[in-house]
Amino acid sequence: MTTDPFFHPPSGMELPRFAGLATFMRLPHVPPGHPREAEVQIGLFGLPFDGGTSNRPGPRHGPRQIRDLSTMIRAQHPVTRLRPFEAARCADLGDVGPNPAEVIDSLDRFEKAVARWKGLGIRPLMAGGDHLCTLPVLRGLARGGPPLGLVHFDSHTDLFPAYFGSPVPTHGNPFRLAVEEGLLAPDRMIQIGIRGTQYSRADFDFAEAHGIRIVTIEEFHRRGVPDVMAEAREILGTGPAYMSYDIDFVDPSVAPGTGTPEWGGPNAFQAMEVVRECAGLNIVGADMVEVSPPVDPAGGTAWLAASIMFEELCVMVGALGLRA
Ligand code: MN
Ligand code: MN
Repeated sequence: MTTDPFFHPPSGMELPRFAGLATFMRLPHVPPGHPREAEVQIGLFGLPFDGGTSNRPGPRHGPRQIRDLSTMIRAQHPVTRLRPFEAARCADLGDVGPNPAEVIDSLDRFEKAVARWKGLGIRPLMAGGDHLCTLPVLRGLARGGPPLGLVHFDSHTDLFPAYFGSPVPTHGNPFRLAVEEGLLAPDRMIQIGIRGTQYSRADFDFAEAHGIRIVTIEEFHRRGVPDVMAEAREILGTGPAYMSYDIDFVDPSVAPGTGTPEWGGPNAFQAMEVVRECAGLNIVGADMVEVSPPVDPAGGTAWLAASIMFEELCVMVGALGLRA
């Protein structure tokens, strides 16, 4: 329980939610070097980068639009009544600036920032950016240490081989590389919502060879959220795990603002419910990626993304054993 008002977002009863500078969930802005930085337990930050995008770009604008829409978030969870900003010290750490002309240099900058925050004891909640932004977060969290489990919501496995034979990674292969680099434990990985037309079986073959569990959208709809997520909790167990959320997991009828939409996904309620069902997991980091403001003109996709980030934050607060 943190009683320090510094870490409490202003209530809409004191300052209307449409007023003031936009930070994630109206949290205090605590950039690197800020005197309160080392007190932060969960840090929300943006990686405004879409240099890994293979088709329609735009997620580099995601963090700014998610910040804007996230100012509508209130203090208390509607189901559990958890008040995350009082349970844990949370802050907006700002954005890590990419090198817009250079993929590898950008990934190095992101990894360094996350590793530094990890050294201060800050758990990361990242807003992308495209899905390649997850790779440097995993590197910053797990390089040189034991591999993490993964619960991954997406239309796509992102386990594909390199594009055009290039060694430069893309948003199509962050999890393949994370497995190859020993950042993730494949037997503690589950990918949920997979669908859409495919180039080949190469990603499914990789998953089979490494024992990664894939739940296709057909299986997801047939079994329902509680049953699928019970299996996810069993696979991840009690060890440290990461949650990665590609907004294209959600059906494009409710979340059209993304570069690679695929029809037949979950509705908005199920999109939040899957995260709620992760309560009890030891989630040490999480993200929300692939929100693309150029194709989200009314902001509805960013508003759903912000609402899902609030669910992720509540799971992360629970993983710290905190309550308010
Ligand atoms: Mn993805
Ligand atoms: Mn995707």
